[in-house]
Amino acid sequence: TLITNHMPTAQLQALDAAHHMHPFTQGDELAAKGARIITRAKGVTLTDSEGHEILDAMAGLWCVNIGYGRDELAEAAARQMKELPYYNTFFQTTHVPAIALADKLAELTPHDLNHVFYAGSGSEANDTNIRLVRTYWAQKGKPTKKVIISRKNAYHGSSVGSASLGGMSAMHAQGGLPIPDVHHINQPHWYGEGGDMTPEEFGLARARELEDAILELGEDRVAAFIGEPVQGAGGVIIPPETYWPEIQRICDKYEILLIADEVICGFGRTGTWFGSESFGIKPHVMTIAKGLSSGYAPIGGSLVCDEVAEVINGCEFAHGYTYSGHPVACAVALENLRILQEEGIVDRVASDTAPYLKKKWETLADHPLVGEARIAGMMGSIALSPDKANRAAFAADPGTAGLICREACFANNLVMRHVGDRMVISPPLVITHEEIDTLIARAGAALDQAH
Ligand code: PLP
Repeated sequence: TLITNHMPTAQLQALDAAHHMHPFTQGDELAAKGARIITRAKGVTLTDSEGHEILDAMAGLWCVNIGYGRDELAEAAARQMKELPYYNTFFQTTHVPAIALADKLAELTPHDLNHVFYAGSGSEANDTNIRLVRTYWAQKGKPTKKVIISRKNAYHGSSVGSASLGGMSAMHAQGGLPIPDVHHINQPHWYGEGGDMTPEEFGLARARELEDAILELGEDRVAAFIGEPVQGAGGVIIPPETYWPEIQRICDKYEILLIADEVICGFGRTGTWFGSESFGIKPHVMTIAKGLSSGYAPIGGSLVCDEVAEVINGCEFAHGYTYSGHPVACAVALENLRILQEEGIVDRVASDTAPYLKKKWETLADHPLVGEARIAGMMGSIALSPDKANRAAFAADPGTAGLICREACFANNLVMRHVGDRMVISPPLVITHEEIDTLIARAGAALDQAH
C-alpha cells in the first residue's frame, strides 16, 4: 500500500506503532494511544491528520527559528541537490556551500570564533568537542588535561559522548554512561535549589563549585567546562546574573577551555545572535545546530577560536563524519541565515517580540498553579507548584502535573513541552503579537483545566 497523508489516522497510527521506534518514548504506551500525526505546517502553525490547527510554541524541538513553510529554503535545497547533492570535505577536498557557510559563520559569531568543524547534529558536534579539547591539550604537551566539567541536568545530546557530557540521570542509567573523565557539578537552578539564598548569592555559589572541582581534580587534569547559556531541555533554567561572569573568571584563572553549547541559544533565541553575547561570556568553542538551519536540514558544528584552531590544525585531527559539511544542508543553512539577517529577525526579537512575549508570559505567574514564570528572549518556562509562597514542588508524584498540563495544552491546540513540572516554550522567532496573545490564552485555559 502507498502510505499518504490521506490515509485514516488510525491506520497510520497502527503502521507507525508496528514499525517505528520513537526517541524518548515508551513504545507500548504510545502504541496503545496512537501517535499524533503532523501533516503540514506554515509559520507557527502545525496541522495534524485530523485537521487541528496547533500553535507550535516549541518551534519543533527548539529549532524552527524562521518558522515553517519558507519556500526559499526548499528552493536552495533543490538547487544544491541538482548541482552537487553530495561530496565530502575529507582528504583535502571542499565545495562552495561549505566554504560559504563557514565564511558567513565567521562573520556572525562573536570575537575570534572564526573556524567551524561541521557535524550532522548537536550531539555529533559535542562528540567532536570532547575529542577536540583533549587533542588541543595533548598537542600543547599536556595530555593529562582530559576531564570535562559539566552540570547536572544539562542536555548536550544523545550519543554516548554527548549524553555523558549531559547530566541527565535517566540517560546515564541506560547503557553504562558516563564515559570516563567527565565530571558534573550542580546546576544554577535558583527556584528549585536556591533555598534561603538570594539569586545573586546562589549564582556565585554554584559557579564556585567549578573552582572547587578544578582544585579537587587538579588543574593539570581539567581540559574544559561546558554549559548551555540557558539550560533548555533541563527546563529553561535561566541562571542568576552572577553565574556566568564568575564561570568566565574561573576558566580564565585556571586556563580551562570554555565551551558554550549554543544548540538552542544560538541564532537569535535569547535576543542576540548567540546566548554567549546575552550573558557576556567569551567561549573558546561553541556548539551549534538547530537554529543554524531552522531545522530544515540536519546540520551542526563546533565553532572554534583562532588559538584552538591553530593548535588543532598543527596535527591531523583523526575525526569527521560522512556528512560533515553536507552541501545541501550547508546551502539550506546559508539561506536560513540570509533570511534571519536580511529580514532583521534577531533585531526584531530584541526590540519588539521578546519584550512583548515577556510581558505576556509573566502574567501567567498570577495563576494559582504557577510558582514562577521566567523568560530569556524567546525561551521561557513556568514552574507548576502546589504551594507558590514556598516555591514548593509536587514531591509525591513529580512530573504528573506537568504531564496533565501538557495534555491540556494539546486539547487547546497548543504545543508546550513539560520537563517534570516545568512547562517550557521556545516558539519560532517570527511569532506575531496576535499569535503570542493566542499562545497565552491557550496556555491559561490549559492551566485552568490542569488546576
Ligand atoms: N545541545 C543542546 C543544548 C541541545 O538542546 C541539544 C538538543 O536538544 C543537543 C545538544 C543535541 O542536538 P541534536 O539533537 O541535534 O543531536
